[in-house]
Order: sequence, then C-alpha cells, then structure tokens
Amino acid sequence: MLEKTQKEKEDSDKLILRMVDIISVLGDEYSNIYCVDRTSHNIEIYRYENTSVGVREVLNESRPYVTAIKGYINANVLEEDKEKMKIATNLENVCNRLKQAPQFSVHYRVKRNNEVLFYRMKCARIGDANSFQKIIFAFANEDADVRLNELEAIMKSSGMSGKRKILIVEDDDLNLEMLCDLLEDQYEIITAKNGKQGLKLLEEHYRELSLILLDVQMPVLDGIKVLEKVKEDALLSSVPIIVITVNDGIDTELTCLELGAVDYITKPYSADIIRRRIHNVIRLKESSLTLAAVEHDALTGLYTVQAFSHYVNQMMRFKPDIKMHLIEAKIKDFKLINTIYGTQKADELLCYLASIYSDKLKNGMIARRESSSFICIFYEGGELNHQKVIDTIESVIKNSPIPGVKIKYGIYEDVDKSLSVSTICDYASIAAETVMENYDCDLAYYTEEMAQKRIYNQMIENSFDDALNNQEFIVYYQPKVDIITEKVIGAEALVRWKKMDGSLVSPGDFIPVYEKDGLIERLDEYVFRKVCHLQKSKINEDKELLPISVNLSRSSILHEDVAERYIKIVQENEIPFSCVPLELTESAAIYGDRINETTEQLINAGFKLHVDDFGSGYSSLVTLNQLPFSTLKIDKSLIDHVCEKKGKTLVEQVIMLSKLLNMQVLAEGVETKEQLEELRKMKCDEVQGFYYARPMPENEFIEYINRDC
Ligand code: C2E
Ligand code: MG
Ligand code: MG
Repeated sequence: MLEKTQKEKEDSDKLILRMVDIISVLGDEYSNIYCVDRTSHNIEIYRYENTSVGVREVLNESRPYVTAIKGYINANVLEEDKEKMKIATNLENVCNRLKQAPQFSVHYRVKRNNEVLFYRMKCARIGDANSFQKIIFAFANEDADVRLNELEAIMKSSGMSGKRKILIVEDDDLNLEMLCDLLEDQYEIITAKNGKQGLKLLEEHYRELSLILLDVQMPVLDGIKVLEKVKEDALLSSVPIIVITVNDGIDTELTCLELGAVDYITKPYSADIIRRRIHNVIRLKESSLTLAAVEHDALTGLYTVQAFSHYVNQMMRFKPDIKMHLIEAKIKDFKLINTIYGTQKADELLCYLASIYSDKLKNGMIARRESSSFICIFYEGGELNHQKVIDTIESVIKNSPIPGVKIKYGIYEDVDKSLSVSTICDYASIAAETVMENYDCDLAYYTEEMAQKRIYNQMIENSFDDALNNQEFIVYYQPKVDIITEKVIGAEALVRWKKMDGSLVSPGDFIPVYEKDGLIERLDEYVFRKVCHLQKSKINEDKELLPISVNLSRSSILHEDVAERYIKIVQENEIPFSCVPLELTESAAIYGDRINETTEQLINAGFKLHVDDFGSGYSSLVTLNQLPFSTLKIDKSLIDHVCEKKGKTLVEQVIMLSKLLNMQVLAEGVETKEQLEELRKMKCDEVQGFYYARPMPENEFIEYINRDC
C-alpha cells in the first residue's frame, strides 16, 4: 500500500516537472496555461495570472473541457471571432490538427467591460503526433496596452447584421451619401473620409470586409498611396478593392490595376453598374481563397510569409521599444535532399524543424518561407544572447531525421522597425547566403557591407550579357611545368573580366556570382570555345599542341546536355579531345549518378578529366575512386604548408595515393624554390604557380612557350 503511494507520488512529481518544462518552453507571455486530457477531457491548470483573460472562472470549474470552452467563448469572445474559435470546441478536431503540427495559434478578440482586447490562444500537444494524450491550451494577451484608440471603431462594428460589410473611402460628402443610399439596403457600410482613416478601418476589419470602394483623389492619403500600402500586406490585400474616380485617363486606371485594384469605375456612375460589379467581385472573392489558407502553411502548420508579415508588422508597431531579432534558417541543398531521400523524408525534415524551432521559440513568431527556409522574429527583453543562439543551432541537428543535413542561419540583430518586414527578412537572408558555401561556419550576422556586396554582385550579374557581347571576358593562360625537365607541358585557361574602362575584375569576384545564378554555364562554354579556337589555330599553323585545361563549374557539369555540347564543339574545331582537358572541383562528385553519366560520356569521347582544388575543404577520397580522373591537382592551401612537417606528410600521402590510382599529380600555387624542391623529392609530376609564371594573355603565353622551346 505504502509502495503504491510512493509510486503515485513519483508519477505526480514527474508530471509537475514536465509542466515546469512546458511553462518554460511557452515563455512568459502566456498568462494562463491549461492542460486537457484527450480521453477524460479533464482540465488541469498550470498557470493562472491575469484575471482579465477570464478563462479561469470558466475552465476552473469541474466541468469537462468542451462545456467549459464553449462557455468561455460564448461569454467572452467577440461575435465576429467566435467562428474561428470554434475549432477549440471540438477536441478531436484540435487533436487532428495537432497531429499535423505540434502546435498552432488562433488570434481572437475578447470583449470585456466595454473594451476589446486582443488575444492569442496557443494549442500544443505534449508528446508524439501519434500517441499524445495531453493538450496544452495557453492564452496570452497580445496587446492589452495598445490600440485603445482603435477600440471605439471595433465596438461599433461588433454588432452582426448578417449583411456583407463594405468599406467606402470617399472624401466628397455628396458622393459618399449617394453611394451609401445606393448600397445600404444590401450591405453593411462603414465609411472613411480619407486614405489614412480608410487604412485604419481596413486593418481593424479586414477579416469581415467583403469589399472596399476607394476614391482616388483624397486629402491626407490618396487612393494610389492606399493601394501601395495594402499591396505590401497579404492579409489586407485579401480584401478586394474597386477604385472609383472621375475619368482622368488610362494611366490612373492602369496604375490602380497594377497596384492590385480588381476593378475601376468612373464617375458619374450608373447605379446598376455599381451594384452589379460589386456583386460580381464579392462572389468571385468568396469562391476563391479563404483567409485560413493564407494564414497557415499546410505542411508544417506554421504561419505563411504573408501572415507572418502582417502579424510582425503589428508586433513591431505595438512593441516599439523592445529589441527584436530576425533569424532565417535555410536548409542547404534541399532540392538534392528531395532527390536523394524522396519528398516524404524531406517533408519529415521540414516538419521536424518546424516543430523544434517552435518549441525553442519563447517570445516571437515563426513562419515557413519558400520551400526550404524558416523565418523567426523573437525578443528576449534585451540584447541578443549569442551563446544561446549557437547552443540552439547545435541542438537542432542532433535528432534530425536526415543525418548530416546542413542548415545555414542568417541573423539580423536588433531590427530597424521602420523597415518593411520583407526587407528585414531579406537582410537575414543576405547574411545566410554568405555562409551557404562555407564548410566551417553555419551562421552569419547581417552587416551593412553585406548589403553593399549584394548590390555589387547585382551589378556583376546585370552586366553579364553586355560583357559577353563586348568581348570583355578574356582568357588568360597559366603554364604548367614538368617538375624534372622544367619544360612547359601545358596550361590552364583562366578567365579575366577586363571592363570597357580598362579595370580588371578578379574571377574570385564574379565566378561565385555566376555560379549562383547559372550564368557560369554560358561563361564556361565561352572560355571553352576560345581555347578550342586557339588549339585549332595551332594545328593550322603546324605548331606544337600543348594541352590547355578548362574549368568546368559544378553547375555546368550538372547541366543535362553538357557532354553533347562540349563534344560537338571539339568535333566542329577538328581538334583532339586530349588537348582540352576539363578541370572539375571534386565537390561535384557528391552529385552521384547524374555526374557519373556525364563524366562517362566525356571520357568515352576522349576527354581527360582533372580533379581541381584537391584538399581545399571538400575533399573526399571516395571521389577519387569513383570518378575516372587522369590528373589530380593539389590545392594551393596544401602546397602553402608543404615545407612544414605536418603539411609535408599530408602532401606526400596524397601523392602516394594518386600514384596508386594511376593519376598524374600537379601541385597548384607553387611560389618558392623550397616548395618546388620538396615536391620534386615527393615525386610530384607537374607544377603550376607564380614561381614559374602567372596567368598571362594569349600573346604573352605564345611568346612564353616559344622562348621555352
Ligand atoms: P583554379 O581553377 O584553382 O585556378 C587556379 C587559381 O590559382 C588561379 O586563380 C590562379 O591565378 C591562381 N594561382 C596559380 N598559381 C598561383 C600562385 O602561385 N600563387 C597564388 N596566390 N595564386 C596562384 P584565378 O585565375 O584568380 O582563378 C580563381 C578561380 O576562379 C579558379 O581556381 C577557378 O576555380 C575559377 N575560374 C577561373 N576561370 C574560370 C573559368 O573559366 N570557369 C570556371 N568555372 N571557373 C574559373
Ligand atoms: Mg582550375
Ligand atoms: Mg585549382
């Protein structure tokens, strides 16, 4: 008997502990936290602080859950918001939704002592999607201290008349009166006398508004400005707008339509036309998207970007003095993950991340952005705790359903709240992009320089076509030398960008940009054609033919018909395949079968393949075994240490391994005699580096070889 009591006590201790965890996970914002048992429907209270929520009085009673929540909704929730709180009245519906996502929130308004308060209810499951037994209901006051000035308008509109509601924004009294007369039998009408008032009413009523009639010429804020502002916010722009104005030309009409107006009516209007158009627009809207679909991402249950923007805008407006930080998490190579693991596993990864990020988030909001990234805005009551961010990031990948997945993070710290939400998100995204290809680092903080770099990169991207047409891309050649005879035995083609003003842009600046946007494929082919022409002219002049290798970037090799195209170019020039070897960085090899097929085609045609940059960070010995390379190029970063003990051993091993696999070995970036001597002792075959020659223009290169002969 005593034993059983002891066990019961332990069990209840465990439960209390778990609840402490829950409270700490949810954060301080939730003043009232309840837990409901899925089978018995019993309610337990875990936190109760704020009487104004009013949940306690109802839920604290020993009634079962459904009766209690219905009572709460009936007595407290504003009429217009009762419908969406209905989800909470059916526990099985709640459970079904929680099966798909670990938690979800509902925003609603409460009427208390003639005041309207904004609330959020968060529902979360405790435990696994298939076996959870307990559900948390947490209630938070979203902005009790604000919006006082908005309350009056909301109170006025809270009576339900059963009619559809229309907002008319018109400064001319006569017109306004006429429109009201015309429409009030069919619609409930609210009015504003200028754009500013109109926007304010829209923000308060967008959920229940069926349509807006908007005048263009108005004081304070005109119709065009209103349209511009509404366009920025997906939730507000879910209300259709018909523009009304005097006939002032096609330009205004076009501008309005471009800004998202659905229709345009010119004054003086015909009553029948107005009625018919309004009817059509409302019918169309109602048969299309529902607000709910716009708010939540179907897979993860998180907010969509549109809903996120809307709520973040509100949050920033209502908490202007609190420092907020925005973080973006991007899954690297998500397309590849989809291909390799299949969509189901990829979806599992997305849901896992959505759930773990939501769990970690205490104060803030989170959304899914595009297919493979998440954005989260949060605040901690002060400066960002960097260590906490790092710890969180590290803990996330530990239990990932796809081991080894790389997630890259960009943080915009202490966001400038005067910026638009999309700009704030872009800043975090810019930061994340800077570490996308970085193997050692997964996290970057946004800086002003990053934005400038992006503008510079944009310039590089935009100038590509002109630069290509104007022949601004020039091929330089860097000799490769036999380590024993010291004779030039080949060269590497390296592209340079010589702008019209004579300045030279380094490939380090433009190649990564073109690699990202796919333009590199065209540039690679351009360089390849140039080299083939040079080789052809050598044959025509009966000169010695030295192989000149050409770089093939990762995205070029992944392009479907790359082998066919390159084979065709060689055949058109009637040159041997062996005189234009192709250099591939071996990171390309992780792309598996697809690249194997391409390399097989190239090798069967007669091309020689070189592994470039071996040892630069991506190296894997598996690659060497899988792909039939003829030459291995050891990266400069290893050669830099070839005179030191550890570096020497490493390079020695690489050379030995290459020989075992029947590959020639070339050392890149050889700058000193000492390095050369070491490499010679290790039986390296070829060297390329400033010690012998820098990359040079075609005419200098031809002179260089002739001198060498
Ligand atoms: P890479 O293919 O590994 O080329 C070797 C780079 O090392 C060249 O830089 C070359 O100038 C530099 N280098 C050679 N010897 C030395 C040395 O002794 N000391 C030092 N400090 N550097 C040395 P470059 O020309 O700036 O090219 C950088 C990278 O840009 C290339 O690395 C390659 O990945 C890429 N690249 C250049 N041209 C092309 C191209 O036509 N297509 C593609 N896809 N990539 C290209
Ligand atoms: Mg190369
Ligand atoms: Mg290299």
